[in-house]
Amino acid sequence: MTSDDIPEYLCQDAAVAARFARLKQRPVALSVRGLGKRFESGKGAVTALTDVGFDVHKREFMCVIGPSGCGKSTLVRILAGLETPSEGELRVYGEPVAGPGPDRGMVFQGYTLFPWLTVKENVMFGPRVAGRAHLFAESEAREWIDLVGLSKFENSYPHQLSGGMKQRVAIARALANQPRVLFMDEPFGALDAQTRANMQAYLLEIWKKVDITIVFITHDLDEAVFLADRILVLDANPGRVREVVEVAVPRPRTFEQIADPMFMATRRHIEHLIHPPRQADTESFPVLRMAVADPDVI
Ligand code: ADP
Ligand code: MG
Repeated sequence: MTSDDIPEYLCQDAAVAARFARLKQRPVALSVRGLGKRFESGKGAVTALTDVGFDVHKREFMCVIGPSGCGKSTLVRILAGLETPSEGELRVYGEPVAGPGPDRGMVFQGYTLFPWLTVKENVMFGPRVAGRAHLFAESEAREWIDLVGLSKFENSYPHQLSGGMKQRVAIARALANQPRVLFMDEPFGALDAQTRANMQAYLLEIWKKVDITIVFITHDLDEAVFLADRILVLDANPGRVREVVEVAVPRPRTFEQIADPMFMATRRHIEHLIHPPRQADTESFPVLRMAVADPDVI
């Protein structure tokens, strides 16, 4: 295949274009305007984010990608209300929000389950704290546990589970609070490649079944293209929106699509946004020195 066979990442087939048209008609679940964050430290101020603005529509799956240190975690912590912005505005379904709230849920990279509670107790913990325990029957917890495929493990403790299973419990726990928007900060970053791929497919299945809008942080290009409707690409120093890319890869997504020209075109475009190719790279590339044939090296 030549590079001419790969379509421009902007080309959308009719079904994909229609899907994006419908997506943009849906209500705005999350609206971010003029968001900035400065950290004051002994050595002076660091501007982590500046003038970040974007909308996420109801039931959209948005990925946020950018180089390490560009402010992805800071952004998602502000959106979840765990950090206060220096400036800017955040609205959930049109209502201005400040601070954390049950309308927004969070799944982190690190395992954040309570080790002394069983799977079921972990899932029931959020509603208990929110004072909904009287409404939140064990049967409801079971439904969430069932959704993430862990029915057989409801009485297990976190240390008895694999990394992927722990993150499935963390997802069930976040969803049990019935947030309107779910934030995920590199939730599969600590998992091995195979488990990570399984979790990505799992998450799309869950997203299909649950009425939830997802903002998913990652630094993995394949993960972003596989999961997202749109990808918010951030620049570093200071963190700001570089581009919002519509992923024209049809749904339902399958791993075979990773070899599709559209998948590759989108991936390549985002890679160029994050790591622009420099002229000098090709010119200064060292010429390979071929080894002399050696019968012992095979
Ligand atoms: P990412 O998640 O994209 O890797 P972060 O949001 O963690 O980036 O960090 C963005 C920038 O803000 C970095 O330069 C980081 O050092 C800085 N930063 C993050 N948190 C703090 C903090 N609590 N105090 C000072 N600087 C911080
Ligand atoms: Mg981070």
